[in-house]
Amino acid sequence: EGLYGKNFVSSVSRIESYYSCPFQHFASYGLGLQERMEFTLEAPSIGDLFHAALKWVSDEMNRTGKSWMELSKEQCWQLSRDAMEHITQMFFNRILLSTSRYHYIRRKLTQIVMRTIFALGKQATKSMFRPIAIEAAFGPGEQLPPLEIPLRHGNQMNLRGRIDRVDATEIDGRNYVRIVDYKSSSKQLDLTDVYYGISLQMLTYLDVAVEHAEEWIGFKADPAGVLYLHVHNPMIRTELELTEDLIEEEILKSYKMRGYLLDDPGVVMGMDAQLGKTSTVIPAALKTDGTFTKASKVLSTDDLQIVRKFVRQRHRQAGDGMLAGDARVYPYRLKDKMPCQYCSYRSVCQFDPTNPEQKYRHYESLNPEESLEKMRKDVNDDGHSS
Ligand code: SF4
Repeated sequence: EGLYGKNFVSSVSRIESYYSCPFQHFASYGLGLQERMEFTLEAPSIGDLFHAALKWVSDEMNRTGKSWMELSKEQCWQLSRDAMEHITQMFFNRILLSTSRYHYIRRKLTQIVMRTIFALGKQATKSMFRPIAIEAAFGPGEQLPPLEIPLRHGNQMNLRGRIDRVDATEIDGRNYVRIVDYKSSSKQLDLTDVYYGISLQMLTYLDVAVEHAEEWIGFKADPAGVLYLHVHNPMIRTELELTEDLIEEEILKSYKMRGYLLDDPGVVMGMDAQLGKTSTVIPAALKTDGTFTKASKVLSTDDLQIVRKFVRQRHRQAGDGMLAGDARVYPYRLKDKMPCQYCSYRSVCQFDPTNPEQKYRHYESLNPEESLEKMRKDVNDDGHSS
């Protein structure tokens, strides 16, 4: 409490860091240790650049009244060049203007932005969902209030964050919201990671969007899903000679979003009007009888509610753990995944898995139904104890 305060502000990535390894969290957020900044372009900065470019394009579209659905390839090129021109002037000490090598990288990044804008335009032609907020910030002093997590002993954790994109639509008299997150690497939403607290961001953002829908967008809304979009420039590999249209179709497939959706065919068709046995837009498909295929990533309303409660429970447990002073060197290990691979604090923690006194926290691999079952149990047990 002395270090963080009885009433403190946290982010979802901070919570995920705590669940990855309590010492990593302590080193970063307690001791405030940071690596020395170097004048080089790393993956997180590239992610920031894509976010800034896509936000710039959205603002420009709003300012000029253009529709995503009507964007031509030439307009996408122009918008991406203008966005990069604008952003590179301010971005990371103008690194992209610093050497010929960085000028070349900047051209490559502009191509990625262009391709992504084009794919977003094509996706918009199939969808009833429209962006209602881009880079929507929540937290103290932001457009939306923080997500308040009550902790033990009257303490409180206030979550802040920034949601890449919130989309909404009305279907059969009900309003729905979904979250779209732009990632510079390909990412799936794995319910095992949600269960262990190492992937809470998207579902927390959906919770915030649903919680504040009325005051924010003027109506109550139900959750329709969470989706990741991979910002990239795809390489199409084929043995066949493809026409322009087929190439475009293949490119669009590579932008298919990943995540979880509400298991309501009417709502999901609102995200892809051409939804059939396959989809180039979302991780769902329909059988001939109109129900979802087994491979579809869908959750029932009840399960979405369970997941929402569970994620809040995880936040609360993390907040209590932080204030109880949990700073153990105790990284998780889930199959061959462990946080030490990308952690900056190895020279500080000196974690050595060959030392019998130090060990990983081994997480069992679960399938989606097993993860959901464990979440249901935890939520129910929590309800009984409170
Ligand atoms: S290197 Fe591993 S054990 Fe050390 S702080 Fe990072 S995550 Fe924890």
